[in-house]
Amino acid sequence: MNNEGQNETNQVVAEALRPYGTSIFTEMSVLANAHGAVNLSQGFPDFDGPEAIRNKAAEAIKRGPNQYVLSYGIPALREALARKMERFYGISVDPETEITVTGGATEGLCATLLGILEPGDEVILLEPSYETYAPVSAMAGAKIRYVSLEGPEFALPKEKLAEAFNPRTKAIMINNPQNPCCKTFTREELSYIGELCIQYGAYAIGDEVYEHLVYDGREHATLLTIPELKDRCFVISSTAKTFSMTGWKIGYVIAAPALSRAVRMSHQFIIFCGQGPLQEAMAFAIDFPDGYYRELLADYTKKRNRLSDALASLGFQVFPTAGTYYLLVDIRSLGFDDDVSFCRMLTEKAGVAAIPCSCFWNNRSRGRELVRFCFCKKDETLDEAIKRLTAFLGN
Ligand code: PMP
Ligand code: GLN
Repeated sequence: MNNEGQNETNQVVAEALRPYGTSIFTEMSVLANAHGAVNLSQGFPDFDGPEAIRNKAAEAIKRGPNQYVLSYGIPALREALARKMERFYGISVDPETEITVTGGATEGLCATLLGILEPGDEVILLEPSYETYAPVSAMAGAKIRYVSLEGPEFALPKEKLAEAFNPRTKAIMINNPQNPCCKTFTREELSYIGELCIQYGAYAIGDEVYEHLVYDGREHATLLTIPELKDRCFVISSTAKTFSMTGWKIGYVIAAPALSRAVRMSHQFIIFCGQGPLQEAMAFAIDFPDGYYRELLADYTKKRNRLSDALASLGFQVFPTAGTYYLLVDIRSLGFDDDVSFCRMLTEKAGVAAIPCSCFWNNRSRGRELVRFCFCKKDETLDEAIKRLTAFLGN
């Protein structure tokens, strides 16, 4: 589009959205496709989840009904989710009043933020911060306070966080495991946040979409098991990563009844309901035996190590991945210092796409040394990417 057209579009776009351009995931996948690059940018598997789940969905679609379902999700899925919370975390959740099925975690985030925020409220975001949180908070008229995780460990800066909380703080977002820095939060860190939430009457919103991708014997600490947060947290998750079906967009929000009511109030006016047949198939999937979840983790552990070793031997400084299906690298070890031009060059010239991480900071001069690669790909895809990177960077 020419500049004139672009300006016109900008005037149409709501003011709250104007600071945010096209999603980096759209941008990089489009660029990757245009150049026939191996796409290690946007995080989606290049394989589909288990055939048994797809058969269930196909059966449900053929059998019908294919009509609206209950706004907050079909009972079978909410009941399966309640069983899952008991099985993995030992907590009891009421499927009738505490679980809302949403259009992916993304709509769960929107429904939660739009369901609780008033104009002028403040939301605390920990940077680097996943791309949905800021624009949706802004759409609700909230003010955002950024607090950066610090150092190579992306540690929680407790004093700075405490200073960011104030009587206008309505919520803090906690992405655990964290995308893109691949950190997991400790129970101690979460309790600390919980105490601040109690002190200021704020809510904690946990984005836990990578809850089953936590490596090396670590245990996922869901906000719902942090005593301080039990009645003041919203936990958002998704079936996208766990069952390798990112395109199905089935997510959910778990929260105490009064909090769930706020989520349901906005969810009903955003999407009303999700897709019944796909929800039915996911209800079946969630009850898969523990072996399924163990195998998923074992497969991803091997993929993480495969790509991490290759990136390290190419000279990248690779950060350890405690959770998620991403690897973060520092490109300065190879003599580069601009993530955006590096990722563009890598896509166009090496034929491998990755995510420039400065987009996860409000101030884009931060994070320019960091690039994110995803490893949720077939081994042969990872090998092809490694081959191309070696040919390009090895010289
Ligand atoms: N939160 C984080 C941290 C993510 O990485 C993603 C991408 N999968 C989402 C939310 C969105 O999840 P969904 O595809 O279920 O909307
Ligand atoms: N969460 C995915 C990522 O971080 C992208 C999801 C999306 O494209 N919205 O790569």
